[in-house]
Amino acid sequence: VIHIRNGVAIHGGVGTLPPDQMTAEMEAAYRETLAASLGAGRAALDEGGHALDAVQAAIEVMEDSPLFNAGRGSNLDERGWATMDASVMSGETLEAGAVAGVTDVRNPIALARLVLGASPHLMLIGAGAEAFARRQGVEVTPNEWFRTERRERQLAEAKARDSSRPAEVLGDTVARDKAGTVGAVALDAEGRLAAGTSTGGMANKTWGRVGDSPIIGAGSYAGARCAVSCTGWGEYFIRNAAAYDVHARMAYGGRRLSEAAHEVIFDTLHTQIPESGGLVAIDAEGHVELCFSTPGMYRGWVDEHGDIQLRIARDD
Ligand code: ASP
Repeated sequence: VIHIRNGVAIHGGVGTLPPDQMTAEMEAAYRETLAASLGAGRAALDEGGHALDAVQAAIEVMEDSPLFNAGRGSNLDERGWATMDASVMSGETLEAGAVAGVTDVRNPIALARLVLGASPHLMLIGAGAEAFARRQGVEVTPNEWFRTERRERQLAEAKARDSSRPAEVLGDTVARDKAGTVGAVALDAEGRLAAGTSTGGMANKTWGRVGDSPIIGAGSYAGARCAVSCTGWGEYFIRNAAAYDVHARMAYGGRRLSEAAHEVIFDTLHTQIPESGGLVAIDAEGHVELCFSTPGMYRGWVDEHGDIQLRIARDD
């Protein structure tokens, strides 16, 4: 059991590279970015920041990296566009902000945070979210900036594969396409919890498809008990209200965080669709859980001393 006084836990998705593609160079690059993300989250807390600040700072580092499926390096939809989803939530106040289907906002998590703080609403989508971003002065960039050669190639592969299969197995591409949705949870020195998630969604997704990541209760949830960020086959996480279910099992079922997380990932999701995904979570006492049904999940945490721990494969 991981137990910290305060800190941040992150994931960079469950689509870890298979051993034959995980060169020492690639692994070093992933570890460097995960460490930078945790360092940014830690710095936000050390500056007296709110748990929400730590979550946003940690996620922005991974959004800016082309390695992960969020921000730059997002998976591409059927048109070849990066269309991104993100959400953030405060466990203290239950305030939340979310955006879906944005195409030109450099850091979708920053925009979700502004929806939380500077709009009377909880979720904005598409062109309206982008207009809000401009009014807020958020950095925007052409869609080409998000697209990488690796994701173009994965889109072409997904198109070839999906055309020979019925639509309902499209989600099979989550693990195959090395998805790398990113997320973070934090507990700050004042005992406040927060969660956030950001993604480009699934490769070759239908234009307009929204996954679990921007849906409060599905991809992200924070309440009095715990904060949770999920990654995996989004449709299943939405159906099962996965992030909320972890919190509910603690609140109503008296479960410990690790029990609640394992019940959701293994007893619920994994029985419906094998290797459906994973999550990171932290509870109000500082217990950290990193739980997944896939061969690996990019993940890590940082404690109150700034000590950073990173893991990728299941038995790291
Ligand atoms: N959950 C994300 C989605 O369905 C994908 C992922 O986590 O890899 O959009």
